[in-house]
Amino acid sequence: MSQVLVLVDHVDGAVRKTTTELLTIAARLGEPAAVFIGGHPDAFDNASATLAEYGAQTVYRVEGEGIEDYLVAPKAEALAAVVAQAGDPAAVLLASSGENKEIAGRLAVKLDSGLITDAVDVQEGPVTTQSVFAAAFTVTASVTKGVPVITVKPNSAEPIAVAGVTPTVVTVPVTISEAARTAKITERRPKEKSGRPELTEAAVVVSGGRGTNGDFSPVESFADALGGAVGASRAAVDAGWYPHNSQVGQTGKQVSPTLYVASGISGAIQHRAGMQTSKTIVAINKDPEAPIFELVDFGVVGDLFKVLPQATEEVLKRK
Ligand code: FAD
Repeated sequence: MSQVLVLVDHVDGAVRKTTTELLTIAARLGEPAAVFIGGHPDAFDNASATLAEYGAQTVYRVEGEGIEDYLVAPKAEALAAVVAQAGDPAAVLLASSGENKEIAGRLAVKLDSGLITDAVDVQEGPVTTQSVFAAAFTVTASVTKGVPVITVKPNSAEPIAVAGVTPTVVTVPVTISEAARTAKITERRPKEKSGRPELTEAAVVVSGGRGTNGDFSPVESFADALGGAVGASRAAVDAGWYPHNSQVGQTGKQVSPTLYVASGISGAIQHRAGMQTSKTIVAINKDPEAPIFELVDFGVVGDLFKVLPQATEEVLKRK
């Protein structure tokens, strides 16, 4: 069975949930193999335990001087080296993030392969499902040339733990080329901890728009009751009511949670582009004619300042 390579996203060895989702998808397509880049020995040990738990049969540990000091390009080179070592893998899977999509693009060029980004499902083939043209169409697609390079949106699969796997560890030494040493990381600042999950990975996202009139407290309280992340429309971000890194949409983040709640958001096409692949969509809007109601599973016509606190209270009561 051919290997399916999964790029491991980790912070000091703490493996992100998106990686465990990709390992579960990889098991449908072939033999899951993880590619771990960087980190100190403890980080690798921590990561290995999680990778084994989610079925990685092989873990490629990439080592190279300066590999973590530069943006994007060295990781594409490292992945290309692992592809060469793995023989003829069935696919390379990466979680859809801004950085990973750039790595995927560069890797596809190096491998002379086809690239598919932002898949929301990957089945045997591999055949992918994507939502395209600002979510106006759903297409299935497959790569027809080379090793398929595929980025997959977070929450596209429920991670499944696999008992009794002891991965084979393969060390891959790489020498980063001068051409890849173009954008150096000069400082790393830890993110301010909000206690909420990362927006793109959260199972629940509650977003606020212009309808909040700058008061996000009911949106945040509802998100916290559900253990979710807080998103915002561009109108809310442009008004300075919420940070830019919370923007959902075409020019913001792409989210695909199990539950997306849009409150005080009209549902412009550019907003939909970032959230339409969510599994269940709920909207709260005063205007019954708001376009957001065209795509919701559940809609509440009402004032968010009344509806959200009631919903929060009800959720907390049931906890
Ligand atoms: P509005 O369209 O003003 O809607 C506010 C809604 O709140 C209304 O439907 C209103 O009925 C409702 N409301 C008001 N008060 C209440 C209340 N008390 N309770 C309940 N409902 C209430 N937008 C994005 O979001 N993300 C993007 O990434 C993005 N990228 C863009 C890229 C380009 C190139 C362009 C041109 C635009 C982009 N936009 C993006 C902007 C987009 O077109 C819309 O302008 C924006 O999404 C509107 O935000 P909104 O829904 O919060 O505001």
